[in-house]
Amino acid sequence: MKSIIFIAPPAAGKGTQSKLISKKYNIPHISIGDLLRYSINSEDESSKKINEYMEKGLLVSDDIILNLLKNRLKQQDCISGYILDGFPRNVNQAKEYDKLLEKLDKDLGLVILLDIDKEILKNRIVGRLSCNKCGSVYNELIKETKPKNVGLCDKCNLKLSKRIDDNEETFEMRYNTYLKETEPLINYYDDKGCLYRVNANINADLIFKEIQSIIGSSI
Ligand code: AMP
Repeated sequence: MKSIIFIAPPAAGKGTQSKLISKKYNIPHISIGDLLRYSINSEDESSKKINEYMEKGLLVSDDIILNLLKNRLKQQDCISGYILDGFPRNVNQAKEYDKLLEKLDKDLGLVILLDIDKEILKNRIVGRLSCNKCGSVYNELIKETKPKNVGLCDKCNLKLSKRIDDNEETFEMRYNTYLKETEPLINYYDDKGCLYRVNANINADLIFKEIQSIIGSSI
């Protein structure tokens, strides 16, 4: 199984697709945003800085990210492939990742671009809620994915929480960061011949079908 990188603006569905791929192909889903959130310990200074950057929708420093990733990729479950959700986020990270792959004697794999309209993203972000216990994600503004009872997880019946960076102001910031820092990766990977474009304006099941056919054609 090849590893998979997602390039996508905030809330394009890379987390959802990563979970589906992880389950079907039995490879780990590595979410850099989650690794950052777990690594934050409110007491120390560097955590405060990370938190501040995340709240503002800015990118955390490349050194911190690369360190987290290196440690994660050393783990046994990454041997036969993995999904990178949220990395690389800029060209420097992509170049550093190329060097790391060379050291680890691993292939780059597939790079999947989730192409989606900005207005759809804004609604997804502003209404997004998730369950801290089981990880289920809902949206209070979208009929199909509303929780059955307002503010409560359908599975655990516990109160759903909102990410600190899921608001309109931070969305604009995160989207602009995407355009400025992450979008240049499209040309970077297109030039290497490993970029696949997927229309992500459709529902998650159809997107997943499209991704499965890309994976199938590359095996
Ligand atoms: P995500 O969960 O992927 O939406 O990421 C949430 C936030 O974590 C981003 O807005 C950034 O502040 C930070 N972050 C996640 N991945 C990276 C990365 N590769 N480089 C720098 N910052 C990141």
